[in-house]
Amino acid sequence: MTKSFKRAHNFNAGPAALPLAALQKAQEELLDFNGTGMSVMELSHRSKDYEAVHNRAIGLLKELLAIPENYDVLFLQGGASLQFAMVPLNFLPAGKKAGYVMTGSWSEKAYAEAEKLGEVFVAASAKEGNYRRIPATEELKYGSDAAYLHITSNNTIFGTQWQDFPDTGDVPMIADMSSDILSRPFDVSKFGLIYAGAQKNLGPAGVTVVIIRHDLLDQANKKVPTMLKYGTYAKDNSLYNTPPTFSIYMVKLMLEWVKEQGGVAAIYKRNQEKAALIYETIDASNGFYVGHAQPDARSLMNVTFRLANEELEKKFLDTAKKSGFVGLNGHRSVGGCRASIYNAVPYESCAALRDLMVSFRKENG
Ligand SMILES: *Cc1c(COP(=O)(O)O)cnc(C)c1O
Repeated sequence: MTKSFKRAHNFNAGPAALPLAALQKAQEELLDFNGTGMSVMELSHRSKDYEAVHNRAIGLLKELLAIPENYDVLFLQGGASLQFAMVPLNFLPAGKKAGYVMTGSWSEKAYAEAEKLGEVFVAASAKEGNYRRIPATEELKYGSDAAYLHITSNNTIFGTQWQDFPDTGDVPMIADMSSDILSRPFDVSKFGLIYAGAQKNLGPAGVTVVIIRHDLLDQANKKVPTMLKYGTYAKDNSLYNTPPTFSIYMVKLMLEWVKEQGGVAAIYKRNQEKAALIYETIDASNGFYVGHAQPDARSLMNVTFRLANEELEKKFLDTAKKSGFVGLNGHRSVGGCRASIYNAVPYESCAALRDLMVSFRKENG
């Protein structure tokens, strides 16, 4: 049944690479899941077989991220983009203001959406200089009466990442972790709510993971439509209506793979090694390649860089494409090049990219 195949060096920003082992497991189980004679896609979401998949995915995420007891893991749809609206709908009451730390295009979108629903303010911004850095903790300006403080932990488009997180005390910190969740260990208890579209580091598109602290659920605005209320998902274990069952199944397979790799600490070590291959090549290139992010804000997930001019960038991207590399063009809003090296991107693909960058420079430098 297995045809011979060739896997691409996949540097897509999202949807992105999935572990080969997870894809093969899905292939193996596609026609007959667990002796049911059905695909996971064909199971009732109320069946025991599906429920086991659902609960295993939740349990694994809790285990891998060491999520404390007083948090729930929820599965939603609508992507991270719907969270931009759901967060203020639930947590920004009249008379309060929510602070946003601006670190890139996704923060801007989150802010713009919240602005439609309530009062917002910029707690700090790195826009000056085109989002090359992450504001220092001392720069964050917000009162202890703020509804919440919103941050974007990894800036997918500009290639910057928070290196450590502030302590916001009684002000709940809410984070968009779409592009770096599960890439490194961090202290979940610093956050009130975390959200992430799955299609970068957790699995395929179609499901959004939310990690929410119980006391926030109690404080949420009750007059929100049912499907836009976190409480609806928390109350019914994300089974109020039909969840995206196959996407959640793929998340489960991806989490099992992370566990097999040795968990988040082991993945983090490998992510550091992968990113170092490319950043060291940039730094040793004598300015042939120029990184966008300030070194102290560099992302382990999205490496952004430019060449001397657009012509040379086009030549580099064409050469890469011919050699089997996918997804290296920068986001259309910034240009240049970007290598997205999420958890599932193999070390070998990063080493191959390094080799390509070195030989391209030799031929064109
Ligand atoms: C990709 C991305 C989004 C948008 O996600 P959708 O699931 O497409 O809505 C939001 N925030 C960040 C940080 C992202 O990387």
